Amino acid sequence: MIPVYSPFLDDQVRRYVLDCVDSGWISSLGKYVREFETSFARFCGAPYGVATSSGTSALHLALVVLGIGPADEVLLPSLTFVATANAIRYVGAQPVFVEVDPATWCMDPADIRQRITSRTRAIIPVHLYGHPTDMDPLLAMAREHSVRVVEDAAEAHGARYRGRPVGALGDVGCFSFYGNKIVTTGEGGMLVTTDPALAERARFLRDHAMDPERRYWHPEIGFNYRMTNIQAAIGCAQMERIDEILACKRRIARQYAEELAEVPGLTLAPCAPWAESVYWMYSVLVEDGFGMERDQVMAELCTRGIDTRPFFIPIHHLPPYRSSVTLPVSERLAARGINLPSGTGLTEDEVRTVTAALRAIGKGG
Ligand SMILES: *Cc1c(COP(=O)(O)O)cnc(C)c1O
Repeated sequence: MIPVYSPFLDDQVRRYVLDCVDSGWISSLGKYVREFETSFARFCGAPYGVATSSGTSALHLALVVLGIGPADEVLLPSLTFVATANAIRYVGAQPVFVEVDPATWCMDPADIRQRITSRTRAIIPVHLYGHPTDMDPLLAMAREHSVRVVEDAAEAHGARYRGRPVGALGDVGCFSFYGNKIVTTGEGGMLVTTDPALAERARFLRDHAMDPERRYWHPEIGFNYRMTNIQAAIGCAQMERIDEILACKRRIARQYAEELAEVPGLTLAPCAPWAESVYWMYSVLVEDGFGMERDQVMAELCTRGIDTRPFFIPIHHLPPYRSSVTLPVSERLAARGINLPSGTGLTEDEVRTVTAALRAIGKGG
């Protein structure tokens, strides 16, 4: 089976993990956590990084440090992983779904104006499948309405918007290092920011809100959202080869784009002129002209030994979030999208196997 993703693990990962074991520093104290925070934040062009136990805890912490709470509304795209919405609910706020732009598959800044109310306190753009959101109009709108911006960059390590890396474009950027993400520590996350006060507060709340000067003095209720030294060790090793990892992603995307360009009924992953996508999951849309429904295409690929994923189900269709809004673009993309195998271990031959299979089962085959 050609997997949809596989983690990038090398000898340096093994060495650093063994170093944790041999030194006994396996929990959240130890040199790798700070090192990983420093190298990853620098990679994002942000002065501060706060490592967390997951991308979800980074998102939750971001909303807490920005003071978002009950009675507040937070805008997000409906076409995202459920964690984005869950983090909003964890702080008691109300998620408000925004339509996506067919040219980016990300939040459509033009749709924000009609969703913003006097209760809106934050916007969470999601850089879906590695493509950045059109941030300038979004940031302008946020400024105009005095709302905060939290980037959900869980799928977009290293993506660039008009030359600037994602994560440091808004108030806070959140990343995930789950096993199938571009940089992975097994489980893990990070919050990056240019604001020292937000970083300090996140660091404090991450560790049970313990007073850094007085052990076991907890002036408020915090969380255990710490990353372990072992996780950070894996992250440090990956950051040493991040350029190779991203080059690999670009190579895979280029090959897919070339070999699928002429296949009737397939719409390929977008790349806006101002964007540098990292193609976390190289994805295509199965249109009517392909001659077969999306789910059937996935089943056919599976019988040929190719693992794929469907696009996320729009969150406004999930039981805890069900609402009467209709978001035709999000719904259409969700019904047609497929994530193709995209792991850094994918060979040229494997990509060719996938594209040949798609050609063979489509109308053009
Ligand atoms: C993976 C992901 C998350 C959650 O990250 P975890 O590390 O699994 O908690 C959040 N948002 C998006 C868009 C993701 O893809």
